[in-house]
Amino acid sequence: MLMTTLMCGAMSIVMFSVYRSFRREVHGLGHWAAGLLLLVCASLLFGTREVLPPALSMLAANAVLVAGIGLSMLGTEKFYGLAPSRRAYLLILSLAIAGSGWWLLVRPDFSMRVTVFSLLVFLFYARQVQLVWRYGERHFSSFFFGALMLLQAVVVLARGVSALLHGGASVDLTVAGTPAGIYLAVANFMALLLTVGFMTVATRRLQQILERRSTHDPLTQVLNRRGFGDAYAREIDNLRRHRLPLTLLSIDLDYFKLINDRHGHAVGDQVLAHVATVIGGALRESDCVARFGGEEFVVLMPDMPPQNALGVAERIRALLHEPNQAGLPACTVSIGVACQASVMEGLEELLSRADAALYLAKERGRDRIEFDAAAFTVDRTRSAAGIDTVR
Ligand code: GH3
Ligand code: MG
Ligand code: MG
Repeated sequence: MLMTTLMCGAMSIVMFSVYRSFRREVHGLGHWAAGLLLLVCASLLFGTREVLPPALSMLAANAVLVAGIGLSMLGTEKFYGLAPSRRAYLLILSLAIAGSGWWLLVRPDFSMRVTVFSLLVFLFYARQVQLVWRYGERHFSSFFFGALMLLQAVVVLARGVSALLHGGASVDLTVAGTPAGIYLAVANFMALLLTVGFMTVATRRLQQILERRSTHDPLTQVLNRRGFGDAYAREIDNLRRHRLPLTLLSIDLDYFKLINDRHGHAVGDQVLAHVATVIGGALRESDCVARFGGEEFVVLMPDMPPQNALGVAERIRALLHEPNQAGLPACTVSIGVACQASVMEGLEELLSRADAALYLAKERGRDRIEFDAAAFTVDRTRSAAGIDTVR
């Protein structure tokens, strides 16, 4: 018990330090850290029964124990993005204190005390099992955490039922009987394991957040250059296997500097985010969009022949002509289109061909689409619609 208490104290320090570093990213860490600290306090209070009046130290230890376990439940609720159910927490805590006080001081009855206490604590664990079941991701970390929580809930429930059916002696922690011995060993070890379980899901969440940060642009939430590189590598693999054409759009906002100059940088940022949303809305699920530098976006469209890519580019251009609901200043884009049909070419070459087409679109007056020569045979009928081919 002493060892696990010390380990819980150490884990609480770890949890507090993770909380301080990542409280904005991962919610619930603070509640878990505080809950663990209370479990340590409960163990210490339990140990004071040789010094203080036993009933008093038991009552205090029980109250602090329930408060600590309840805090971890609130933490798990916060972790899954729910509002912590403080009322239920306070109600269960009050009932546990009142029950312990009654069957400890007023009408001493060990089995009733254990039964009521265990069933109330069971609710905290059962709620967390439900949360993991409902909101947990299909990943080892959730299975691990959920399984531990379920085991703990079953053990606590079994203790309560055993006390009810067979009387207090069967679960008295101070008597070295088999069920009590098992319970004591499991309960102490489980407090530690559950913390490890929660750390596993929290670490997984953190990993996902950091991964997203390294591959996405924070302003527009679309991919950044690195994320785009990964997506391109995946698509090149498909191209190699299925020989499906891959089309790239290079999109640049026209006279964006003027928008910044007239309306300020903050509005410019909003325009960039709006354009990213518009582009994303015009794409299929399999396409991806990235922000390359200041006001330049690129779109990668797997299995997209150039004829169809033209339709997408036109849709983006047309959508930006429509008035936006946020009242942002209007802006137009120039788009260069390049198609990759061979795996021999790399991303840099594809990008430079799309950029060449984009520069031509700028040169020819902006707010228009141009194709790279390799992507499309010359189609003069498209010139009238503001579309031409780089030759
Ligand atoms: P063009 O039609 O030739 O592309 O003209 P432009 O004004 O769009 O191009 P230019 O390269 O002259 O200016 C790009 C501007 O984009 C300059 C820079 O201040 C602005 N910019 C770059 N990154 C950001 C950003 O993150 N937020 C905002 N608000 N502006 C940015
Ligand atoms: Mg520009
Ligand atoms: Mg630019």
